[in-house]
Amino acid sequence: MTGIESKKNKDNLSRIIPNIIIFLFVCIGIYFIFGMIVSPNFDFSQYECEEYLGEWEYINVDGTKTTFVLPHSFDVKKGDTVTFSTVLPDDIMDDRYLCIRTGRSFVAYVDGVEIYNFDATKCMTGPIVKAYYLCVPLKKDYAGRKLTIYKYDTSADNSNVGSMYIGDMYGIYRMAFGKASMPFNFAVVLALLAILTLIIFSIISRVIERKLPIVYLALGILCAAFWVICDSYMFQIVFDRVFFDGTMAYMITILLACPFFVYLNLLQEGRYAKIYNVFSILNIINFVVLCILHFTNTATFGSVLYHIDAVVFADILLIFGIIIYDYVKNKESVKNKKYLHIGMGGLLLFSVVEIIVIILNFNNNQLPSGIYLLIGLFILLGFAITDQIHSLREYQRFTNEAIAATKAKSDFLANMSHEIRTPINAIIGMNEMILRESKDDNITEYAHDVYTASNRLLDIVNDILDFSRVEAGKVEIIEREYNIGETISLASNMIEIKTKEKKLDFRVEASEKLPKVLYGDEKRISEVMINILNNAVKYTVRGVILFSIYGEYDEQGFNLVFSVKDTGIGIKPEDQAKLFGDFERFDSEKNRNIEGTGLGLAITARLVDMMGGSIFVDSLYGSGSKFTIRLPQRVIDDTPIGNYLDYRRTNNKEDKDIQRDYIAPEAKVLIVDDLAINRKVITRLLSKTQIMTVEADSGQKMLELIEKEHFDLILLDHMMPGMDGVDTLKAVSTLESNQCANTPIIALTANAIVGAKEQYLRAGFTDYLSKPVKPFDLESMVLKYLPEEQIIYK
Ligand code: ADP
Repeated sequence: MTGIESKKNKDNLSRIIPNIIIFLFVCIGIYFIFGMIVSPNFDFSQYECEEYLGEWEYINVDGTKTTFVLPHSFDVKKGDTVTFSTVLPDDIMDDRYLCIRTGRSFVAYVDGVEIYNFDATKCMTGPIVKAYYLCVPLKKDYAGRKLTIYKYDTSADNSNVGSMYIGDMYGIYRMAFGKASMPFNFAVVLALLAILTLIIFSIISRVIERKLPIVYLALGILCAAFWVICDSYMFQIVFDRVFFDGTMAYMITILLACPFFVYLNLLQEGRYAKIYNVFSILNIINFVVLCILHFTNTATFGSVLYHIDAVVFADILLIFGIIIYDYVKNKESVKNKKYLHIGMGGLLLFSVVEIIVIILNFNNNQLPSGIYLLIGLFILLGFAITDQIHSLREYQRFTNEAIAATKAKSDFLANMSHEIRTPINAIIGMNEMILRESKDDNITEYAHDVYTASNRLLDIVNDILDFSRVEAGKVEIIEREYNIGETISLASNMIEIKTKEKKLDFRVEASEKLPKVLYGDEKRISEVMINILNNAVKYTVRGVILFSIYGEYDEQGFNLVFSVKDTGIGIKPEDQAKLFGDFERFDSEKNRNIEGTGLGLAITARLVDMMGGSIFVDSLYGSGSKFTIRLPQRVIDDTPIGNYLDYRRTNNKEDKDIQRDYIAPEAKVLIVDDLAINRKVITRLLSKTQIMTVEADSGQKMLELIEKEHFDLILLDHMMPGMDGVDTLKAVSTLESNQCANTPIIALTANAIVGAKEQYLRAGFTDYLSKPVKPFDLESMVLKYLPEEQIIYK
């Protein structure tokens, strides 16, 4: 046999085997039906249980006798005891029982001798509100003798005596089963289904961090099923427990509507929240009051049955009333809830059947009740699960679409702003040359305008780029130790210049008790501080800007808190909620001349969130605003900082050196960029320093050059077609002969985004310069990395 043939055979087998299994199970099914038809009946004649239809006698107060058959209701008041007797039949045998269904204390006598005493008053779980099957043992000797029953509960209503049965234990069990097992079994299955639904959807709800209405429906249905279980006579037989189950049934009934209120409220997206809340509160109050009355035996649940029924009825009316009203009012929003409507319709239909059965059963308990309501709940649960799965799918589709749309938007913004930066780079660079070289005042003035406008354009593009990176989750929080004094100093120095320009009073109140060294992402904290401070300056025409910084401890640890308070234009209350949204700008009339993209606060809020902090705004329109930010930080050194001004970065090499002009005619710098205009800008910007520049238009070209020649510094562009800056850097380490093994390589990039610097340093660059290159930054960067001996200060 060839290999192909044996595979074919195997495939045939895997097709045939399941069919054989199905066939065999069908055979078993047929055998079951056959057995049900032809097998003989099990002989029950040996077990018996018959309703006792004998005549009973009651002695009235005036001594006259009244005869009756069961069931019977005595004309007595609550607390009155009753005594009634009968002559037992002649055919009584041993091991027979008189089965009485009651919840009241009674004593049974045969010819004056006590044979059974049920004392309901000793019950520890409160007053008894449910009847039980109580079996009074009979003997052959009792045949034809007088049986007297004395109902002696003085705190209860003893007027009703239900049907009694005489039979053996098995017969009595069968009788009880026959009467109550169907709704009970149904309720157990429904309860299990509800528990399963509850567990599964609670887990899903946790995972997707969204409240799912079905959880509350399942809870409601579980309660309803439990109510039927507790209310059933089967409870006593199945659980072998008595007395508290009836109380449980009442308690559940009184509160039953509440989970359905929560369910519908979620489903109807809070449209009728107020009504549901009012009704829930009324139900809760009702529950508490009735419980107190019941357990203090002031008014048992049984005695306020009509009141309970009325409340339940009002709840049901409310539920269906709102459903119908909502259906008519909000046709659009409930349109896609067809499954749920079928479920509700099913429940309504079967509830009506249940009510009809209850009415028909009023005089004789012939029809099985309770079961129709359960069928209705079954249908509701089934369709509600289908509906929930349907809306979860919709939600998933919606989320996926939203994620895809956000990504597409972020990618588009990132690409566009990157593309825009390249020409701005050329404009700023060339304009700088005009500013430096032009002797014509007019031209210098025009160039100045170009300078302001292009820098403004650059700010906008930077905002968009930052925002799209933050939104796409491409920004990391990099924590390290930092000196908070320096951070405050840096931010306030930057803002001080701007406040001076606008003639605003700038005050810094830094708590002297702040711990000196903290652990967190200093760069992001500075960004957040500067953003908020910048806004304060932007939106304040006159007055004061107060920058306060202090520390606070809570259960989780230390929090750095800073607030910026201004006397600016303020923000309207309705705008405050939208403040941290994307592209939101307010008060366009007043802000017409203030430049901004509406992204600053969105970026700030996201950075704060990423750092686990919170941001609050408190503003009075026309008077000013206060932004407060709390950031959890670890304390490394808790020595108080004292005066923050002591932490100015005075020993910074850059700060000192850039104050001086320099030349470096001996130095040789390699500029690698695919765009000629970019290379030209850098070459021209460096011309003042007399540095020798060599240009390369690709990574490949650079590799060739550094194999032959030594350079003191390399400025390498990141985004290049073919081999980009990072690839080129990697290739450098594989070169056999490299004349620039120790040469610092600076990344040049238009990728001037939040988190870019770390990215480049990690890739192995010595440092990073963002395009458009600012002449000042370029000169100081070159100065920082050129060998000391090549620098000649002017
Ligand atoms: P931008 O300032 O670029 O417009 P932001 O996201 O920083 O964007 O701010 C969003 C809006 O919030 C601003 O346009 C302004 O209307 C308002 N705003 C922010 N800070 C203040 C402030 N300190 N005072 C008054 N309004 C402010």
